[in-house]
Amino acid sequence: MKRAIFPGSFDPITLGHYDIIKRGITLFDEVIVAIGVNSAKKYMFTLEQRKKFIEDSFEDEPKVKVVTYEGLTVDFCLKHNVDFILRGLRNPADFEFEKAIAHTNRDLAPIETIFLLTAASTSYISSSIVREVIRHNGDYTLLVPDTVRV
Ligand code: ADP
Repeated sequence: MKRAIFPGSFDPITLGHYDIIKRGITLFDEVIVAIGVNSAKKYMFTLEQRKKFIEDSFEDEPKVKVVTYEGLTVDFCLKHNVDFILRGLRNPADFEFEKAIAHTNRDLAPIETIFLLTAASTSYISSSIVREVIRHNGDYTLLVPDTVRV
């Protein structure tokens, strides 16, 4: 079984994440959307809210699982028999950042990182911009799946 993990904060899930997950399930038998728990980080949405937004977006898609995890992504992979890490690339800055993480992960474990270029229509979207729009009462609904409601 080809299994990939799509790790992130998903604070909240955006149409960009949604696109990567949708395309991921055409490549893998299972895509595990894994919400990393980082106690040093401040989030807009609770872990439960972030998890539910994603679960509700994919409730009719049995190939998508949603989990939360602490610690290194590669340790999660080794423990749960996951061979691939899936990441989205929006721009050169993402590439540089992701390259360093992917090289480090390869040093730590024999796990391949697979990158998908974002769809042009969602490549400008980030969770931080969504949070900014929400904070200022803008119409965030254009940027997120319709299961994300504040
Ligand atoms: P992180 O805390 O790792 O930055 P995010 O939840 O922001 O977590 O992102 C998780 C993954 O989703 C990363 O691979 C990131 O590049 C990708 N991603 C974020 N926004 C988009 C987007 N608009 N289109 C495609 N991929 C995206």
